[in-house]
Amino acid sequence: MASVKVAVRCRPLNKREEALGSSVIISMQGRKTFITNVKAPLEASGGDSGRERAKTFAFDFSYWSADKNDSHCINEDTVFADLGIGVIDAAIEGYNACVFAYGQTGSGKTHTMMGSQESPDVVGLTPRICQGLYNKIEMLKGEGISFRTEVSYLEIYNERVRDLLCTLGTGEEFGTHSLRVREHPKEGPYVQDLSKHLVMNYADIQDLMNIGNNRRTTAATQMNDTSSRSHAIFTITFSQARFSRDMPSEMVSKVHLVDLAGSERADASGATGVRLKEGGSINKSLVTLGTVIHALADMCSVRSPEKKQMFIPYRNSVLTWLLKDSLGGNSKTIMIATISPADVNYAETLSTLRYANRAKNIINKPTVNEDPNVRLIRDLRSEIAKLRAMLGGN
Ligand code: ADP
Ligand code: MG
Repeated sequence: MASVKVAVRCRPLNKREEALGSSVIISMQGRKTFITNVKAPLEASGGDSGRERAKTFAFDFSYWSADKNDSHCINEDTVFADLGIGVIDAAIEGYNACVFAYGQTGSGKTHTMMGSQESPDVVGLTPRICQGLYNKIEMLKGEGISFRTEVSYLEIYNERVRDLLCTLGTGEEFGTHSLRVREHPKEGPYVQDLSKHLVMNYADIQDLMNIGNNRRTTAATQMNDTSSRSHAIFTITFSQARFSRDMPSEMVSKVHLVDLAGSERADASGATGVRLKEGGSINKSLVTLGTVIHALADMCSVRSPEKKQMFIPYRNSVLTWLLKDSLGGNSKTIMIATISPADVNYAETLSTLRYANRAKNIINKPTVNEDPNVRLIRDLRSEIAKLRAMLGGN
């Protein structure tokens, strides 16, 4: 059993917020995040205005990334050390893992997951996890273990799944095909006909990541010119086989790295017409994600047996169906909630903090993905060894 780990990350004020003369309403201390509603009346009941206007949340990590020159600032190295290394270790141990970034458009989801388009030296979690995984593989290769890594990259746009790494025929444009989600009785939900790419090293992954990123649907909104309105799921399927003479074994783990579309309501980003329709559809996946997180948090925090059997509507949206294992299932999962520090985004930021606060209550059931017979043999062998030791070391 393992709770979903939740980190909140606050970016610096952007140019638009600075131009509006926005004040900073977020502060952090240790694991705590504080948000102040500057519009709330100063003279709240009892006269203790500061306490009435501020709300406090505690997360696994609260990352203050508001100013590069501030010594308290958290950079990509720390985010990777706190969250990324654990994902690599989980994959090597045979667990599934998932990291997803949730937050308003322009709050730093892509910056955190992929890196910065403007400054190539800012490298995000996804490339770092891929590189770290390959560093580990190089170290372990000499120990009689063989590895196989496959990568896929998809996008959910208007509830349709598109393969960001599909090979295109002559004259064919990306985005014309949408793929079906199906569910395998043992292996769970998957995307039918999604291309999987065998990679031999980190450079191969980088090439694929670049192709996928370039294809991601982008459209301008008032909030962020390059904001993406699709959900992107980058998946590494990692298998390792041990060829020991008496007990060969194989473990397969899946790592999902997810960059969600902006969590704001369509009207907050000034979207109209086609954009509004897109917004509505995107929200179907996000609204369902919210419903699923709500139901799981409820179920996990109450011990009554009937709650344990609660129906979770995973299949109501493509996103939640595909992430079924990552939410309440067999996965070590991390949520990174990204927020703006500005007063103009108070309502959205508070909603993100509440969302993240709820996700903390979800308890997953990660297990090592290996053949149960192999595990049984190993357990029995260690039992025999223990009994032998008790009998006098023979
Ligand atoms: P989102 O993907 O949530 O829409 P982005 O990741 O594109 O938002 O971030 C919007 C802008 O803010 C980008 O220019 C990005 O580089 C910048 N930004 C986001 N987070 C940070 C951060 N922690 N530190 C510095 N700049 C950031
Ligand atoms: Mg983005």
